[in-house]
Amino acid sequence: MPMAGSAPPTETSKTAPDLSRRDFLKRSARAGGALGTLSALGLSLAPAVARAQTLRIQEAKAVPSVCPYCAVGCGTIVHTVDGRIVNIEGNPDSPVSEGNLCPKGAATYQLAVNEQRWTMVKYRAPGSDHWEDRPLDWAMDRIAELVKKTRDETFQETTADGKTLMSTLSIFSLGGATLDNEWNYVHSKLMRGLGIVSIENQARI
Ligand code: SF4
Repeated sequence: MPMAGSAPPTETSKTAPDLSRRDFLKRSARAGGALGTLSALGLSLAPAVARAQTLRIQEAKAVPSVCPYCAVGCGTIVHTVDGRIVNIEGNPDSPVSEGNLCPKGAATYQLAVNEQRWTMVKYRAPGSDHWEDRPLDWAMDRIAELVKKTRDETFQETTADGKTLMSTLSIFSLGGATLDNEWNYVHSKLMRGLGIVSIENQARI
């Protein structure tokens, strides 16, 4: 599994022939032996690794960002070339994490660049026994329609004895831990504007 800062799989690695477990162990042992020999000779690979890393992001644009996975909000630097993400790594200037990322955050690159990522929404219609692929835009419109419909049907301006309510108890909002402060602020504004009073956030930490 590539980590942040690691390049996407090369064509060579994608098309490597199948190896038996025995062949794999033999080749790994030979490679390990070669590296061990270099170390024994006092040669360090660290400069070569650092050089390769520098070359990969040399022409890249660096954009400060925040790990999207949890409420800790560790700082990241996203490197892009021609608008495409080529690398994501910890941001040493972040007062939260000082350049560190946990294993999940260190793999954020795969969140954005991953050929196995689903790009369609899975939708199962009421009463249906199977899922259908739908575009995200369709899903967003569908959610908006249902929120509006439910709110209009259940909005209460007053209680039975005339006290002001201006709310609905028929919609519940549960935010994810990936929502940052700014998103939560805007989201809670929207929910309260709709008269929704049940608002919660799943913060993992
Ligand atoms: S998932 Fe890990 S790297 Fe990301 S914000 Fe949380 S602790 Fe930091």
